[in-house]
Amino acid sequence: MTDNFDAEHLWHPYTSTINPLPCYPVKRAEGVYIELESGERLIDGMSSWWAAVHGYNHPVLNRAAEEQLKSMSHVMFGGLTHRPSIDLGKLLLQIVPPTMQHIFYCDSGSVSVEVALKMAVQYWYSRGESKKCNFITIRSGYHGDTWNAMSVCDPVTGMHSIFGSALPVRYFVPSPSCRFDDAWDPACIEPLKATIAAHHDELAALILEPIVQGAGGMWFYHPQFLREARALCDQYNLLLIFDEIATGFGRTGKLFAWEHAGVTPDIMCIGKALTGGYLTLAATLTTHEVADTISRGNPGVFMHGPTFMGNPLACAIAHASVSLLLSSGWQEKVAAIEAQLKRELAPAASLPQVADVRVLGAIGVVETKKPVDMASIQRQFVEHGVWVRPFGKLVYIMPPFIITSEQLTTLTSALVDVVKNLE
Ligand SMILES: *Cc1c(COP(=O)(O)O)cnc(C)c1O
Repeated sequence: MTDNFDAEHLWHPYTSTINPLPCYPVKRAEGVYIELESGERLIDGMSSWWAAVHGYNHPVLNRAAEEQLKSMSHVMFGGLTHRPSIDLGKLLLQIVPPTMQHIFYCDSGSVSVEVALKMAVQYWYSRGESKKCNFITIRSGYHGDTWNAMSVCDPVTGMHSIFGSALPVRYFVPSPSCRFDDAWDPACIEPLKATIAAHHDELAALILEPIVQGAGGMWFYHPQFLREARALCDQYNLLLIFDEIATGFGRTGKLFAWEHAGVTPDIMCIGKALTGGYLTLAATLTTHEVADTISRGNPGVFMHGPTFMGNPLACAIAHASVSLLLSSGWQEKVAAIEAQLKRELAPAASLPQVADVRVLGAIGVVETKKPVDMASIQRQFVEHGVWVRPFGKLVYIMPPFIITSEQLTTLTSALVDVVKNLE
């Protein structure tokens, strides 16, 4: 790869075509390593955006893909069904809240959020309450980049200013300031309570990333907030949507983050680590009550159906990945990663450049006082032999669960070292 084709023609995420950030060509990836064309082997600190929990090029997932390819990689899901989608569905129902009984397969996380929002609106429509069609959420959230998913992202970091009046206007309340392991402060729920009380007759649902706000700010909030939110939704007739796309499959120390609070949603989105990072696949799950109400209404069907819905290849890999996760001793691994992150990132807290250090499950966050220079900090990480991609003031890692303790030490020392040398 000596030519400039990539920089000249390929648009990368959130990137300029005139002044693109540097991209590192990757030759292959295996286990916890990403190997560059230039020969460097980097320890992966990102799990390719929460997805590659088993690391790369995993023999079990490779085998699942190869076996499925021999029978079919895709058939339409309208009027047809297949073993991979059924097997995956049975497995998912064993691990999601027992109230989740209907599974809608989607092509990506953003699509699963669109589907969740549509389900909520169509639920109230079917009950003759078509005025209940708006949404409420908390600031600093991230729910994807498509139109309505974007409308419930943080209005500042989600760039609502650019898309302006073309974007539906949602209700936002402050993100709970109460930290995950602090004492609960009842004041944290007041803004949500007041706004729901004032506007419930136009609200279809409250959408939240439970416990961990990801790309909107890497913030871990108190489980009591979810319990109070559930009670408010019950009191004022709102559906509760949990976006577990980032938090699912063990990342926070529980299989799904709702377990930290013990309250279940009416609609739930999963994605990212669902296929162990192999292919794009997500799902929106819901209760009998929501699904059957939609089905009893007019037109009596749920109005959505993507071309690649229930893709057999993705479902087969997802089934292998979830099975592998469940038999991998993930609890012990994530607990060990958490303990080590807490220990090894603690020294960063006293650095003058650092505003906050926080760890939950296999997620470690160092928040700096000033935004970092992405191109320069990324190059420094590559020079340290690790792959870390910060944004804004957030330098964070969420490594594959298979990382060894030595590899994790390389990652955390690189992080502390690089942050220590920031201006
Ligand atoms: C990544 C993410 C999404 C969007 O998923 P895509 O697969 O990128 O469309 C939605 N919600 C949360 C919480 C996410 O982390």
